[in-house]
Amino acid sequence: MRTKLQGGTVVGYNGQSHVLIRDGVVIWEDDQITYVGRDNGQLADRTLNATDRLIIPGLINLHWHGGVRANWRLTSDHGDLQFFGAGFPNTDAGPRGASYAVSEEESEIAATLNVLELLSGGCTTLVEVGGPAGYVSQLVRQVERFGVRAYLGPGYRSASYSRNPHGVVQYDWDEASGREGLEAAREFIQHHDGLSKGRVRGMLFPLQADTCTPELLQATARAAQELDVPVQIHTGQNLMEFHQTLRQYGRTPVELLADAGLLGPRTILGHCIMISGHPQAHYPDGNDLDLIAVAQAHVAHCPVSLARRGMHLHHLSRYLARGINVGLGTDIHPFDLIREMRDAGLVGKVAAESPNAATAREVFNAATLGGAAALGRTDLGRLCPGAKADLAIVNQQALHYGVIRDPIRSLVDCGVASDVETVVVDGEIVMEHRHIPEAPSLSWLLERAQGFAEAYWAAYPQLDWSGRSASEAFTNAFPWAEI
Ligand SMILES: [Zn+2]
Repeated sequence: MRTKLQGGTVVGYNGQSHVLIRDGVVIWEDDQITYVGRDNGQLADRTLNATDRLIIPGLINLHWHGGVRANWRLTSDHGDLQFFGAGFPNTDAGPRGASYAVSEEESEIAATLNVLELLSGGCTTLVEVGGPAGYVSQLVRQVERFGVRAYLGPGYRSASYSRNPHGVVQYDWDEASGREGLEAAREFIQHHDGLSKGRVRGMLFPLQADTCTPELLQATARAAQELDVPVQIHTGQNLMEFHQTLRQYGRTPVELLADAGLLGPRTILGHCIMISGHPQAHYPDGNDLDLIAVAQAHVAHCPVSLARRGMHLHHLSRYLARGINVGLGTDIHPFDLIREMRDAGLVGKVAAESPNAATAREVFNAATLGGAAALGRTDLGRLCPGAKADLAIVNQQALHYGVIRDPIRSLVDCGVASDVETVVVDGEIVMEHRHIPEAPSLSWLLERAQGFAEAYWAAYPQLDWSGRSASEAFTNAFPWAEI
């Protein structure tokens, strides 16, 4: 079927760069774009009107974590000092053996909520970073149901965090479980890669540089080659991990990956903040940036969740100038990649101490072309003949935009996820005027998710090393009034 989208400003791609086309059209046959440019009166089986709208490539969310994320609602504004700001150990490191079972129903609700939030914010390619196997299976179902594109796989690692009776964090090593996790991931990829007309793709997710043995990193590099899939691993995401690999191996996290043969063009480094030369690392003499650049590895930048922890990439424009490809992700919450572009710009300017750094051009590229390059895809993140018909129509006729001179700078400065009106993936309309066919009612979905989150918070004393309640360990901004 031939579809013509007409009117509005189209963000086209000329082979080198995005370009703005006033009153443009996009035409696609089935899943592939055949024409982007001025309207020459071409005929089509179906015409979509986008007068006064901005038409952008579907956004690529290169790094996000699924679930109802109840633990992350606790850790904002809080952090145990021994973690140097890192967020997840605050709820992940409990007494040895403590765990919280997530039901199939909770996974289904979470996966539905996650996919709907991402899709309705214009994200058409979703990279979930190695959730538990049960959740990832549900995610495959929801990705297929709502027609988006995703790179998926269960996460694995050789060690987990726990705390001893004095509350001190320790690594519990279980090398066999790391190896078994890799085999389960391999099996998942063999069964799922290519489903839904190729929209579901596999990826390997060894979880963190400090929780995987060098042998597991080496085995991952071999598996990625054999399976021909990308890899993503949290690397340099916090100072605790940076210190840990230095103490354990005499290597920075980036050096550890390089030694294991895992630093290469298939590999995406999640966060990649704490590297040699970062002002907070006090480790000025290494050459991590050069190693990443020479290896042609990629970075998944998630400024919002790390800024919440008092950390920042140092800095986006410096990485780009060194020739490192950077994509953008939302990490934990909210899954608003438009807001993430704004914050990538703001954090990047503050870190560089310059208004000329982390520009709208750089952050919009990261959310589109950068993500595509990290996935090895020349058919995503751009609107041009031969590319997949993945796009989002954005309404900028709103008070929070006001007048518009440069629609991309306005999108980055003022935009939010709910400005996205219509989304197309693989040529199919998956959201039209904010209506997603088959989506359950929002109030039903939120009520179910809230119930699962409340159950987690109620169970928190069993997960805390000293048996504290969630309210004791993580106080609210203001107390609930006792009336
Ligand atoms: Zn992450």
